Amino acid sequence: MNQIKKFAEEFFKNLKCEMAWDGEVLVVNKVPKGFEDLFGKSSPYRLSFVEHSNQEVEFVGKGSLMLVAMMKYLEGSGKATLLRIDFDVNSEAEIRKRIGLKNCEIASLTKGYKNNFFSRFSFVTSFNYLNESERVVSEIYIHEGKVVEGDLNGYTVVDGKNLSIDNEKVKRDYLVAKERVVDLAREKLEEVSLVLKKKAEIEIVRIGEHYDKALKELGGDLNGKLEKIREVELELRSCEEKNRDVLRKKIERLKGSLVKAGNDEAMATVEREKEMTIRDAMHKHSLNVDRKLVNTTVIYYPVYSFKICLEGQGNSKRFIEVNYDPLTKSFSGLDCEGCGKSLARINLCENGHICCEDCLEKCGECGGMFCVKCLRRICKVCGRKLCKACVKMCLGCSGVVCATHLRKDCVSGEDRCVSCLRACLRCHGMCEEKFFGVALDGSKVCAKCLGMEKSGKVLERVFSR
Ligand SMILES: [Zn+2]
Ligand SMILES: [Zn+2]
Ligand SMILES: [Zn+2]
Ligand SMILES: [Zn+2]
Ligand SMILES: [Zn+2]
Ligand SMILES: [Zn+2]
Repeated sequence: MNQIKKFAEEFFKNLKCEMAWDGEVLVVNKVPKGFEDLFGKSSPYRLSFVEHSNQEVEFVGKGSLMLVAMMKYLEGSGKATLLRIDFDVNSEAEIRKRIGLKNCEIASLTKGYKNNFFSRFSFVTSFNYLNESERVVSEIYIHEGKVVEGDLNGYTVVDGKNLSIDNEKVKRDYLVAKERVVDLAREKLEEVSLVLKKKAEIEIVRIGEHYDKALKELGGDLNGKLEKIREVELELRSCEEKNRDVLRKKIERLKGSLVKAGNDEAMATVEREKEMTIRDAMHKHSLNVDRKLVNTTVIYYPVYSFKICLEGQGNSKRFIEVNYDPLTKSFSGLDCEGCGKSLARINLCENGHICCEDCLEKCGECGGMFCVKCLRRICKVCGRKLCKACVKMCLGCSGVVCATHLRKDCVSGEDRCVSCLRACLRCHGMCEEKFFGVALDGSKVCAKCLGMEKSGKVLERVFSR
């Protein structure tokens, strides 16, 4: 009942009629000519959803003229209705409120919007059985390819003129909606089928009894005859010799009538009739489900898009594009570039990545704030995380080190990490192992010190002359 009421209300609302309630009566005015012609009466209509005897009020319910006219009208209007929701949202305030800027600020913001939509499909499912027809109206809302609990109450809906429909998307939505409608009807289907099955079974038993009786009356009680033959056969086994002939004849006679009963044409006719009656009964108890799409409505709504320029520490800058869907109240394009989680507060890494607080860390060398992706390299000596600018490379082992752990080889002058170098105890410089040699006093010193020692010797000789 309520569904029909809702359906009628929605129907006239979609036709943009004037509507008002007069107690329990829905008064509808300014109905399109097309519908008036179909119904055969001009508006205003006074509609009641309960049966009554008032001539001036149209009853709207199962099988009523008004409901039939509505269905016919909808079937004829295969085109999708377009609506647009007007959201009363200050989108800029919304985004400033939702984004807690942590270590950066908005340098500029431009806003725009794109249209997104959801679709609504109205189905009428009819269950036809035992001369009855039950109608169920279902409205399915689909958003982003998924069934959603929908209701347009509370939204300002306007005519969606000047909008065009993405037919492919609507078709995909339709398939999802249809699946849901089939699901919704399944319970009812099973329930009705079970009732019908039980009723049919009772009917078939009754038919069986009726025809068995008819067969017996035709003298075709086969079971009775077989039973009788068995009895006589038993008797024959135990009887005296002189009675045997009589019994044998009796058996023959019984068997003869058995063949006669089996071949009897009248009985075959009765059997055929019985089968037909059972088939009829089963057909009468069958359930026929009919499903019709009566209306498609595409409801557009704006998704706000923002182009934001963020400015953070260390002169870092970043342009981001954020979408705000007022229907789901969700943001897109606001995910941490470190871990992928949705951001409630934006942090800006010095290389311009947006990230969450967990993903923002200090560079162990320069102290700048970076996201985890920018701090992937660590010094192999001290283990500190390093930003790109603070990464040093050892030319000997190709390892990554921090500035503190990179030294100049005092012999070759090339950069080496401290693990590739050895300290010379004489000059306190560092150089690669291969540059060490044994000094005059037997200690191992670097090539530089060895050279000094050698030239010292030469000089000593020069001066001693
Ligand atoms: Zn993160
Ligand atoms: Zn750094
Ligand atoms: Zn970064
Ligand atoms: Zn280090
Ligand atoms: Zn090295
Ligand atoms: Zn040295």
